[in-house]
Amino acid sequence: MSKTHGLTLEELQELSKRATAAKDVSYCPYSNFRVGCALLCDDGSWVIGANVENASYPVTICAERTALVKAITEGKKKFRAIGVSTDISPPASPCGMCRQFIREFSDNSVPIFMYGKEEGECVVRTLGELLPMSFGPEDLLPPGRGARK
Ligand SMILES: [Zn+2]
Repeated sequence: MSKTHGLTLEELQELSKRATAAKDVSYCPYSNFRVGCALLCDDGSWVIGANVENASYPVTICAERTALVKAITEGKKKFRAIGVSTDISPPASPCGMCRQFIREFSDNSVPIFMYGKEEGECVVRTLGELLPMSFGPEDLLPPGRGARK
């Protein structure tokens, strides 16, 4: 697969723009670590999310899961690409919990574009690269059931 993972130049630019802009709605008064996420859904629509922290720290929700929960509850369960943006360099990658959460709704080929603080800075990995030998819905559900059917 090429570095674009089947996305058009316009989609790549939009993914970066939306993931980066999503940092602006982050609620992170404790860490000041802003994270934005953008999902390109298979119907061509976009969903964004940001991290939402809590005074009880473990209750905090990451940007990736915020975006996915929004998408799933809007009936969007298939994704062509995921963009994650932070203010650090090199770019941060999704945490382990989010990788597993993404796995529920994506196969191993879905690309995750990670953007850092420098203009144009981007690292791309597939979910399979970030979460090898993963456990997913097909391990529990018979064919024809589960989110991706
Ligand atoms: Zn996470």
